[in-house]
Amino acid sequence: MSNNNKRNNRNNGSRSQRRLALALLLLLILGAFWFLETDNPTISSIRDSFLSEESGGQNGSSEAGDAEAQETQTDGTSQAVSSPDPAALPEYNGSHYAKINGNVPAFPDEVYARAGLVSENGKWKTEGSKSGRIDSSRLVPYEYYGELDSLGRCTVAYGCLGEETMPAEGVDRGDISRIHPSGWAKGQNWERCHLIAWALSDENANERNLVTGTHYMNHDGMRPLEEEVEHYIWNTGNHVLYMARPFFSGKELVPRGVQMTVWSCEDQGKGMSFNVYCFNVTPGAEINYVNGVVTTAEQAEQEARLYVVNTRSGVFHYPSCDGAKSIYKKNRMEVTATRKELTDQGYIPCGYCEP
Ligand SMILES: [Zn+2]
Repeated sequence: MSNNNKRNNRNNGSRSQRRLALALLLLLILGAFWFLETDNPTISSIRDSFLSEESGGQNGSSEAGDAEAQETQTDGTSQAVSSPDPAALPEYNGSHYAKINGNVPAFPDEVYARAGLVSENGKWKTEGSKSGRIDSSRLVPYEYYGELDSLGRCTVAYGCLGEETMPAEGVDRGDISRIHPSGWAKGQNWERCHLIAWALSDENANERNLVTGTHYMNHDGMRPLEEEVEHYIWNTGNHVLYMARPFFSGKELVPRGVQMTVWSCEDQGKGMSFNVYCFNVTPGAEINYVNGVVTTAEQAEQEARLYVVNTRSGVFHYPSCDGAKSIYKKNRMEVTATRKELTDQGYIPCGYCEP
């Protein structure tokens, strides 16, 4: 072997080592992105607890899974509020909303700070007030609407609400029909749902304050709570800290629900205090949270799809059901039909997969 060849071999060797190192580096970077982007519930809950630890909970009630994951930028403005682990959210069980964090309000620090509230010995007070005292005159009423995220979705709305932020008497609601919140699909009976109600904020066509919501959530779930707050403010002249934020699963455009957190200031939460998650559902209907298409129970009934029938028992399943997978070959029949056609023929829907 000539000297030249030896040198070439050595060069090839170090070049391939360098390539290997580069490939490993690339893998590491991709791995880091995967860690931050993944929808894997275990990973995202690790990530969320990491994020919420970073932001810290001034009131000390930030326990794991309490849906607090506020990212605060160094300049102090609150940016994208990271979506918490969807697995930590309550499951719809027939009620309009479910309590979260034991119904105890928990706000990002900034929500208190902007209102002029400071923490002293574990109690809130207005700056310059005596210990434990929140004075109306020192509170700073305000509203904040987070920027839309990269998918055009609402992030969060919060504020210190009182008579100052409410519409003046005699003022009519403005037109909001030009706003099409993320996931809005025509002809699906969607409602433009305010994160902070008009009656509390005097906000009309503010795209940062409107999400795509069902009548069930907007009118039956959130509205009664909003009215309670409204009455409380009118009756007492007090203020409330208020936060509403939509929860999206992954990259979906229609929120799965909206968290509403309220705490009355002057009486330290004695008058109003709750922390709930309102479900963006319509009982009996199937919602595609990616594109906003709603399939009612009646429509589903008339839609032909693939079923697996056990010809021996007469029970039919969705193909994904374990019951469908365990049918003996000779009793198994795959059929594309509507649910109604099958039940009309006397077949029985499986009690487990409920086709
Ligand atoms: Zn089944």
